[in-house]
Amino acid sequence: MPKKRVKIPSNIETELLYQSARTCCVCRAPKLPVQVHHIDQNPSNNDIENLIVLCTNCHDEAHTKHDLSQNLNATRLKAFRAIWHNEVLEKSSQAMLPSGNLSQAMWTFVNHQRVPHVMRSADIEFDPYLKELLTKENIIDQLGIPLFPKKEIDKIHKTIYDYFSWDNSQRLHFLYTHAVDDIILNLNPIEIGAIWSKKEILDLVSPGNLIFCMKGMYFKSADIVDGEEDRYVYSSSKGVEIRFYANTRHMYGNSALYNSFSGHKFVATLLLVKNLGSENDKLVIDCTPLALGYGFVSSEYKTPHPLKYGWYTFQMRTRLKKNEF
Ligand SMILES: [Zn+2]
Repeated sequence: MPKKRVKIPSNIETELLYQSARTCCVCRAPKLPVQVHHIDQNPSNNDIENLIVLCTNCHDEAHTKHDLSQNLNATRLKAFRAIWHNEVLEKSSQAMLPSGNLSQAMWTFVNHQRVPHVMRSADIEFDPYLKELLTKENIIDQLGIPLFPKKEIDKIHKTIYDYFSWDNSQRLHFLYTHAVDDIILNLNPIEIGAIWSKKEILDLVSPGNLIFCMKGMYFKSADIVDGEEDRYVYSSSKGVEIRFYANTRHMYGNSALYNSFSGHKFVATLLLVKNLGSENDKLVIDCTPLALGYGFVSSEYKTPHPLKYGWYTFQMRTRLKKNEF
């Protein structure tokens, strides 16, 4: 008796397509239409571990019997799937680092309140040498949160770095920019540009998730209160809007304060999702920023995901031979 086909739930399909970067796990050929194949050939078993993304050619192969060594059997499909999913996850996170493939890029806003909490909840450690040094100098507490000395600062904008000597503020910035990189490598943020549609975002993103995107954003200035300003930041397209406040105290240097994060700028953002809601038919993602980066270049952004913004469709592929497993 033929097995009954059960429609794959939308959230499972979205997750699978994201995990495989919408690319055939076997041949990894870019830009080919893909299909979802049931590894155990049972079309009612929609457990995500039983599903694999294949192009039409490899899908036909998976349903064809050759002599044994050539078969795309379940064992080999699972191996292709595991290796490709792992590669997508790693390369996607690597691509988000300023130090990796992106020249001139740097985190010039780091949320000194939230980053230590995210690190603690994920068991990620600050650089031990720098942390010890800065703790001894009373720059940070045991959690890594900066301790402000009482100090008169004669500036329109006061940033965290203004409170310390030049070399200690450099060390503090170094400690935090590396912490952001470690968060990315350990927690693998969701590349929101790969799922930029209401349906897919609702399928895949929940409050508490870390998301990443590189995009043109609007920065709206607000009143300066006691040297600090909560800049309202948003970016909207295709019925989806991301928004958050970026407090100027976390900004590093005058170019960040007055240039990189003002007006309309192309920035890299690492955000913690607070809430998903709808407003006038628009999906609104309210976030807390963990880090904002400037100097990121879209043409050097080597994510394996095809992005839906329309500005970039870079795809990094290494073709594997089918008989590699
Ligand atoms: Zn294929």
